[in-house]
Amino acid sequence: MLGLAVTPTIQMSLSKIDILKFVYQRLLDSGLLTLTLSKPLQLSFPTWYDLDQRCEYHGGVLGHSIKNCKSFMYQVQKLVSKGQIEFVKSGGTYHIVTSILSNDQ
Ligand SMILES: [Zn+2]
Repeated sequence: MLGLAVTPTIQMSLSKIDILKFVYQRLLDSGLLTLTLSKPLQLSFPTWYDLDQRCEYHGGVLGHSIKNCKSFMYQVQKLVSKGQIEFVKSGGTYHIVTSILSNDQ
């Protein structure tokens, strides 16, 4: 039987976490428990995953921005390759020219 006395006065003034820390320290001091190290939690998120970023292309999903969105870049490249859009630099800025808006259709 463990002799873990917590006086009523102390119990009244300590929160549950303080009581647990007190019990833990007593168990550690008595040798009934030893320090147990664990590996830090390893999240399974990929290295590019960023909780502060949202991707407009993917409906605002968390984890990446449209700037880093490979799916979006792939779709844009596909449209360029098909000749459906073209980037034209004019006056220091880029404009997107789409065949949909042209007079060809
Ligand atoms: Zn995306």
